Amino acid sequence: MRVQIDLLVKLQHIEIEMRRLRSDLETKSTKFDNLDAEIVAYEHTLSQEETLLEALKKKYREYERDAHVVSEQIQKSQVKLSAVKTNKEYQSILKEIEDLETKSSQEEDAMLECLEQIDVADAKVKSKRTDFEQIKADVQQEKVEVQRDITQDQQGLKTLQVDWESVAESIDPEIINTYNTIKDTIGGIPVAAVSNAVCQGCHMNIPAQMYNELQRADSIKKCPHCQRIIYWKQDENRPK
Ligand SMILES: [Zn+2]
Repeated sequence: MRVQIDLLVKLQHIEIEMRRLRSDLETKSTKFDNLDAEIVAYEHTLSQEETLLEALKKKYREYERDAHVVSEQIQKSQVKLSAVKTNKEYQSILKEIEDLETKSSQEEDAMLECLEQIDVADAKVKSKRTDFEQIKADVQQEKVEVQRDITQDQQGLKTLQVDWESVAESIDPEIINTYNTIKDTIGGIPVAAVSNAVCQGCHMNIPAQMYNELQRADSIKKCPHCQRIIYWKQDENRPK
């Protein structure tokens, strides 16, 4: 019976390790997906900055066209000015030129402001592009590492599965059944050691009579408090 209990404990260790690996795998898969999402998100902000820069450049070209039109209008008005007959007409064209020059000066200011905005946006895009290259390289590197860990976990799980099967087939099916029923009921660890007469599953004392029987290990015993399968573990602080 002692051998059967030892195998059961071994089976439980394998299952705990499998659970740990599965949860680890889940975390790593999520991490892997998040790494892709990080790239996409950065690419998105970069493309927004690029769109903004293009819009500013387009606006600047429009200002340039407008400035050209106004400067042509000023030239035309100056030609007209040299050909006027009356003072009234002269004053009127002079006013026209004045207005056009005011407009032109306002546009020059707007163009300068736009140029400054282009410089800022351009610097931002350049720095973001550089960062993006670095981020892509870093993420690629990290993905390789995460993928390597995932593969390692998957292989570990396969090995554990083989171990599990070989251990399970050496255990009496009835004991396996009991083990599975307890596992389903308490939803976790169905086998607990008893050390110094204390069940390590629920930390309650085992009755003295049962504790003595437990040390003989001639039958499967359950903790009267938590119903786990219990086995005797060499008391601590006592020579073996
Ligand atoms: Zn217990």
